[in-house]
Amino acid sequence: MPGREVYVGFDLGGSFLKASSFSLDGELQERRSIDTQWCMRAQNYLDLFKDAAKSLSSDKCLMGIGVAVAGVLDLDAGKIIDSPNLPVLCGVPLLGMLENSFSPIPLQMMNDANAAALGEYFAGAGEGYESMFILTLGTGVGGGFVRNGEIWRGASGMAGEIGHMAIEINGKQCTCGSHGCLEAYFSSWALVRDAKAHAKRYPDSAIGSLDKISPISLSELAGSGDDEARAIWENGGYALGVGIANIMNLLNPECIVLAGGLVNAKDYFLPTAQNAWEENSFEQASSSSKVFLGKLGEWAGVRGAIQPFL
Ligand SMILES: [Zn+2]
Repeated sequence: MPGREVYVGFDLGGSFLKASSFSLDGELQERRSIDTQWCMRAQNYLDLFKDAAKSLSSDKCLMGIGVAVAGVLDLDAGKIIDSPNLPVLCGVPLLGMLENSFSPIPLQMMNDANAAALGEYFAGAGEGYESMFILTLGTGVGGGFVRNGEIWRGASGMAGEIGHMAIEINGKQCTCGSHGCLEAYFSSWALVRDAKAHAKRYPDSAIGSLDKISPISLSELAGSGDDEARAIWENGGYALGVGIANIMNLLNPECIVLAGGLVNAKDYFLPTAQNAWEENSFEQASSSSKVFLGKLGEWAGVRGAIQPFL
């Protein structure tokens, strides 16, 4: 029956399970954001998946389920190998558990940055372009390269890890164990680390007087004209711009899409980032690789997760 069949896309992150239903041609129908911070066991997550799928397809026929997960995945084994934000699910054969719950409905699983890339490529800022690189700017920095509608996965699915590209030899310590990674300069945790160091050194400064240092409070402070908060965004923005210049020189994609929560502070980092990518890339590369902000916001991943069915 036309219009009665749906796909459901999921995006599982550290704090929320996002879920949306889509028509068979990929048009958004309904969506939900479900708090997962109380989940202590894999079964808790599984129950949330089942409840959400049921409520989004209650009077309809569920034709396929796409799942995006924040973490490094072994897609052959259907496992989450590593995920700092989902420690309970590390090593858990999530794909098999979901397949058992939803059988015989077909199921696809992918990494959340790849899902966001496909979402923006097919239904967001990258629509109509042949090649697109996405940077997801949030707690960490993820990336994905799409060309002719296909994600470039690399030899073992590790392609696109732009957050851990070194932009400074022997630079700042990164959470991955290496030094000088882009993420160690421009990510939520890196900006908060820099602001905390500033607050410790200058306790009487506006940053030192913040109740809670977060990207949101730092961006509010920058918006109120505080030069020290602005300098933190600009330093991070310069590093981001160097990373973007490297993407332009290496791949020269038709467009580069900036997505993720930090994009909300674009007024404070984007002008400096632009100076940096123009200074550090070939003119022919930067003039032909357009930089856009994502259009789907935090909902890019759920849309990308169902793309394999379309
Ligand atoms: Zn790193």
